[in-house]
Amino acid sequence: MVRLNQSLQVAKTMTQRTDELQSEIERLGPKYQKSGPRYTSYPTAPHLSEQFPLAEFETHCAQDTRITQPLSLYVHVPFCRSICYYCGCNKVVTRKPGVAQEYLNALSNELQRYRDWGLNQRVITQLHWGGGTPTYLSDAELTQLMHLIARNYRLTDSPDREYSIEIDPRTVTRETIALLRGLGFNRLSLGIQDFDPLVQKAINRLQSFEWVSELTQTIREHGFKSLSFDLIYGLPHQTENSIQATLDKVIELAPDRIACYNYAHLPARFPSQRAIDRLTLPSATQRLRLHRYIDAHLQNSGYLLIGLDHYVKADDELALAQREGRLQRNFQGYSLKTADDMMGIGHSAISQIGNMIVQNERSLEDYLTKTLNKRSPLSRGLHLSDDDLLRRDIIMDICCQLEFSLADICARYGIDPDIYLQREINELHTFIRDGLLISTQTGYRLTDLGRHFLRNICMVFDAWLERTPIEVKYSKTV
Ligand code: SF4
Repeated sequence: MVRLNQSLQVAKTMTQRTDELQSEIERLGPKYQKSGPRYTSYPTAPHLSEQFPLAEFETHCAQDTRITQPLSLYVHVPFCRSICYYCGCNKVVTRKPGVAQEYLNALSNELQRYRDWGLNQRVITQLHWGGGTPTYLSDAELTQLMHLIARNYRLTDSPDREYSIEIDPRTVTRETIALLRGLGFNRLSLGIQDFDPLVQKAINRLQSFEWVSELTQTIREHGFKSLSFDLIYGLPHQTENSIQATLDKVIELAPDRIACYNYAHLPARFPSQRAIDRLTLPSATQRLRLHRYIDAHLQNSGYLLIGLDHYVKADDELALAQREGRLQRNFQGYSLKTADDMMGIGHSAISQIGNMIVQNERSLEDYLTKTLNKRSPLSRGLHLSDDDLLRRDIIMDICCQLEFSLADICARYGIDPDIYLQREINELHTFIRDGLLISTQTGYRLTDLGRHFLRNICMVFDAWLERTPIEVKYSKTV
């Protein structure tokens, strides 16, 4: 009886703390609600330039002798069978026969280009297939693609490998899940978004809870190391009640990780969003309440917020990696830091090798024409300066470690932070006054409240923000 009373008291105190935190988020939300990048890279993709001398990247790869360094490989599969109205991804909606086979031929040529430069000698510790919808490919095509990579590159069967693929539950069978495990994937992420039928209808993405539940069970039976769910808030017709019902179902299925994104309604940029009636969207205040509700519900259900939008179980390896400083953020979100360089292949894919970032053609037609004719599909890039590298280190520490030492980072570049980052340090005082940051002996640490305003803190160090092209519209930071 005494133990039961103690547990109830602990639960009550936790709920009180969460309530206090949530009302602070609501109080500060309007002050910090502005548009900003999600910092999956720094500088962010809109700053890649068509003026960049792309041949330099090819020389850089060919002369790179770091063959013992591990490599991360991203494969973009752009196709989808139908459009989800909210979508802002680089995708092509098609059911044209033969389109996937032609694309696999293009990927094969691109793999050959990097092979000619010697990147095939590096062990691929991290592999991610994203889209679009990678599972648009048939089981035979999925197998063909993995064999293309395995024939030319050094895949590993180490249990520490991170081989992941994004799954649209509407496009797979239980047999596909078994096949993916056999092909070597050990992590899956399922696009859920919302379980409410009214919301699903409004976004043109119908998928039943029963089917997702069956798939989840199959995934568990095949021993995948980690299962992640993607959710979105701010969608049409969402209310606290509908979100509660969705979250209850999610928690019942107990994924290891949950990514919960804030929907950015930008119909001028993403034409499919014009099919969403804006009057059915939650207002800015309702959106903040939804965010507050989701955060409280997930944290009270045992999930930790590890950074931007990502919640994990307390014993998940991402939580452990964060404590040990091995967490990284890249174009696919958070992952373990197993390789410094990323080679991206496919339509619109981004590569980051050494201090260069390049992107492939963003028009599928141009990508295919160039690649199938054995020409370079690169279209723009950027050479990172020392200032970029310094600011990238700071921003990535904010996103991944939730603390940062300007003294330590600046020492790596031989500069004095009090002189070089004077403006930025002054701006941090506002965050300290608002309780988002605390000053420590070695630097700054984000508070629980500060995790919710992480993008605002990163933006202070972003020297490219003012140069953002006018046509680029970022989502809201809170
Ligand atoms: S959300 Fe995914 S499945 Fe839907 S259109 Fe976008 S990329 Fe395709």
